Amino acid sequence: MPPDVPLPTRRADLLARLAEPRTWDLAVVGGGATGLGVALDAAARGLSVLLLESHDFASGTSSRSTKLLHGGVRYLAQGNLALVREALHERATVLRNAPHLASRLSFVMPSYAWWQVPFYGIGLKLYDLLAGRAGLGTTTFMGRAQTLAALPNLQPEGLRGGVAYWDGQFDDARLALALARTAAREGALLLNDCPVTELLHDQGRLVGLRCRDALEGQAYEVRARCVVNATGVWVDALRQLDGAAQGRRMEAMVAPSQGVHVVVDRDFLPGEHALLVPHTADGRVLFAVPWLGKLVLGTTDTPRHDLPREPRPLRAELDFILGEAARYLARAPSRADVKSIWVGLRPLVRPAGEDEAATRSLSREHTVVIAASGLVTVTGGKWTTYRAMAEDVLGRCVQAGLLPELPASRSQDLRLVGAEPAEAGLRPALSSAPGPYLYGSEQALLRTLPGAGQSLAPGLDEAMVRFAARYEYALTVEDVLARRSRLLFLDAAQAAAAAPRVAVILREETGRDPALADFLALAQAYLCWPSEQDA
Ligand SMILES: Cc1cc2nc3c(=O)[nH]c(=O)nc-3n(C[C@H](O)[C@H](O)[C@H](O)COP(=O)(O)OP(=O)(O)OC[C@H]3O[C@@H](n4cnc5c(N)ncnc54)[C@H](O)[C@@H]3O)c2cc1C
Repeated sequence: MPPDVPLPTRRADLLARLAEPRTWDLAVVGGGATGLGVALDAAARGLSVLLLESHDFASGTSSRSTKLLHGGVRYLAQGNLALVREALHERATVLRNAPHLASRLSFVMPSYAWWQVPFYGIGLKLYDLLAGRAGLGTTTFMGRAQTLAALPNLQPEGLRGGVAYWDGQFDDARLALALARTAAREGALLLNDCPVTELLHDQGRLVGLRCRDALEGQAYEVRARCVVNATGVWVDALRQLDGAAQGRRMEAMVAPSQGVHVVVDRDFLPGEHALLVPHTADGRVLFAVPWLGKLVLGTTDTPRHDLPREPRPLRAELDFILGEAARYLARAPSRADVKSIWVGLRPLVRPAGEDEAATRSLSREHTVVIAASGLVTVTGGKWTTYRAMAEDVLGRCVQAGLLPELPASRSQDLRLVGAEPAEAGLRPALSSAPGPYLYGSEQALLRTLPGAGQSLAPGLDEAMVRFAARYEYALTVEDVLARRSRLLFLDAAQAAAAAPRVAVILREETGRDPALADFLALAQAYLCWPSEQDA
């Protein structure tokens, strides 16, 4: 199939393939950044690959990140140079392989104390050095006037200057979809709304799994030589299923922590730069990042003991974000200015249990554990390094004899669906309002679909909804307005207003109930301010 003709994602066809009796080389559970990266790398190396996602692709943590492609200035401070170098390399790889969904962005760290410019500046010069040829631009020292010009609404009182450095930003959910669609182009079968409910063992060895079509309720039994558990903060549920089959209780691997983001209008930080506060009142890092025409403020780091699908912010987290914004912005946003609030769960990893052949990586932020049954669990890490993580996971599977020797990975140079040729002209940066540019080389096809140019909301037209249903696995209004378009994350009230029309188009395309009422309730939650009791 030529690269520019998209594969249709008709549900009935996908389920028919799932029902075929066969043994897959690899079954991946979880359709976030981690699972999709593994599926793509494996399919591109010629393995037969099945990926099952319980809800929608990227509906877990992978659509709720700060959307930065970064080396991690934090690891620099810890002296973990190898990790920073790897992430800086991966940052450049994403920019190259998905140029329609990622762009570089300048960050300015304002300084209000004499020592901050030299202190942070030297660290960031090292960051440039580590990036080497993968660098995106040079760190520069700025005087007071230059800093104010770069960040027009910055608090001028006591300002001494600033440091500007370069990182990347991206559309996390659309990148996840691009990974899914590229994996499908390489021959993988991927299904959303298809939770894995059981693991199948034969004499203690994992030989497959059972999953369920969440829409029709039909169960399917799948055989696979190797099963990778890439279910993010939910990895322990699958590990328990695996252990229970052997009468064992597994120690929990993940200690979740939530991060909140608040979205306001761009005019609170006009200009082309993001603001980085390296040390908040309580010693964290806070970003104000222009993204898809809005300004994203965040994030927090609050331990949780539960794993809700839609975590809600605490009042204290919102007060913290708006309070910090007020310290740095001359005209600060108030609660009435907030357009959307979204929350993601970080899978922080506890030390591995003793009852497993631990292959825990110490040199990386992510962790891979292979259980006695052969279940491969991967969690942690970050979006930026998904590709390197996938290479590592597949290497471990080969080492453990779960997969045969494989050819070298192709993912380093594999351009994702929608990537325009390198020589294509200038395209809008991801800080720009959303539009057809996010479809890259598929814009021409988009223009031919019914309803092209008929606006439903800023950055969303009727053709985009049809495209989502036909080629991007979208089944519900939420799939379209939260992840194919990012309107729910950018402006929840506008998303709610557009939802009824989106529902009509989706029903026309799929013949299914697009769950409009569920979406309207969700949009309300993205606007809802927690009460004092939720502090
Ligand atoms: C607040 C916050 C900000 C972040 N910012 C950044 C950033 O700016 N840059 C960066 O590089 N990284 C960032 N990260 C990290 C990054 O988002 C995560 O590392 C990454 O998204 C994790 O992806 P994942 O695939 O492991 O998990 P997930 O995206 O959660 O995917 C796991 C999937 O498994 C599915 N699943 C669960 N159970 C089952 C089952 N039984 N059957 C089938 N499917 C199942 C879930 O529905 C889910 O979709 C951030 C994280 C947080 C929380």
